[in-house]
Amino acid sequence: MERAHAITALAGENIESVVSVLDAVRVSGATTRPEIARVTRLGRNVVTDRAAQLIAAGLLTEGPLGRSTGGRAPRELRFNAAAGVILVADLGATSIEVATADLAGSISNARGEAADVTLGPTHILSRVAELFDELVDSLPGDAHVWGVGVGLPGPVEFDTGRPVSPPIMPGWDGYDVRSFFASRYHAPVWVDNDVNVMALGELRGGLAAGHQDVVFVKIGTGIGAGLVSRGLLHRGAQGCAGDIGHMAVGESTVQCRCGQLGCLEALAGGHALGRDGLELAHSGQSPVLAGELAAGHEVTAQSVVDAALRGDPAARRLVTESARLLGGALARVVNFFNPSLILIGGGVASAGDLYLSQVRLAVLGRSLPLATRHLEILQSPLADRAGLRGAAFMVVDELLSPAGLSRTHDQLLIS
Ligand SMILES: [Zn+2]
Repeated sequence: MERAHAITALAGENIESVVSVLDAVRVSGATTRPEIARVTRLGRNVVTDRAAQLIAAGLLTEGPLGRSTGGRAPRELRFNAAAGVILVADLGATSIEVATADLAGSISNARGEAADVTLGPTHILSRVAELFDELVDSLPGDAHVWGVGVGLPGPVEFDTGRPVSPPIMPGWDGYDVRSFFASRYHAPVWVDNDVNVMALGELRGGLAAGHQDVVFVKIGTGIGAGLVSRGLLHRGAQGCAGDIGHMAVGESTVQCRCGQLGCLEALAGGHALGRDGLELAHSGQSPVLAGELAAGHEVTAQSVVDAALRGDPAARRLVTESARLLGGALARVVNFFNPSLILIGGGVASAGDLYLSQVRLAVLGRSLPLATRHLEILQSPLADRAGLRGAAFMVVDELLSPAGLSRTHDQLLIS
């Protein structure tokens, strides 16, 4: 109760400087009051006052004495990442992943299962809620859920948390995902496209840290990209920036799930690899995939990737052709957007260098030399965890923003 009032009290007229001091510790890694003053350019007295408010609210804790630079050693301040718990879910076309996270975006209790997103929001979100309930039951008694973060495999209007005409999610258009969870957990909820969330995970806790302009590409069943511009996620006017999977890549008679012909993901995505792999298995052109089929195994994108890595020539051709098409599309993105880093994640990226080397060749072959001089193209190191971590950072960054702290926090903190 007392701490709830202390947090609510933060949301007064000093909110901007309170958040500056908090961010100096939480994001920039400053540990002492003099360092915070340098980072924030606030006066020492202001820093001392705001830090005292944040300590009373339980968001900062006082640590041991820091290193002395002549005078009295300053006392270290630490961000109290354990102050609250975030529930996070990363929904793919065929999977659900859930976890709890602390306020520093560290994931615990992660668990996942297969799920079919086309079964619709009531079915899928009810299952996510059951998994969340199990996570909440396992939390210590004094833990509070401060927020919920959800990534969805389609375009999302970020301001409302509603999916917008998602091509692979029948029944989800306009569904109020935010209210579904807000009413259950009495906590604010943020929802975004899964690839945006993964880009945020890499930006705040992965290889993209320190980069200002980043493209994160996910090649799962489909293909999508999350864009980071000047250190911030670029969602676009309606939340569908980076939807590169439906770029037309030349003449094609292959129809995409969106109804158009010749989309990148219809030719190069995981669904396409599985489809073409099955054909190679049936025709016997790929001995490895034919063997999989004969053994009663399903031929999926992953089996094509595995066969390619085992040296099966026909499977290798499929994988490298996917990489070449993706690289061609990315060359256009590079000329248009000029990123310093492209990270490639999703199941197909598990082909590693076999895939990345072809993407690099195609990008370098068709981009402006100036745009590629310092461009790195790498495999996403967070892989599966990027979505969960990103969902946590999405929530924490919103909660601990001036607008987030200005909301009434009593409901979050009074059990
Ligand atoms: Zn399409």
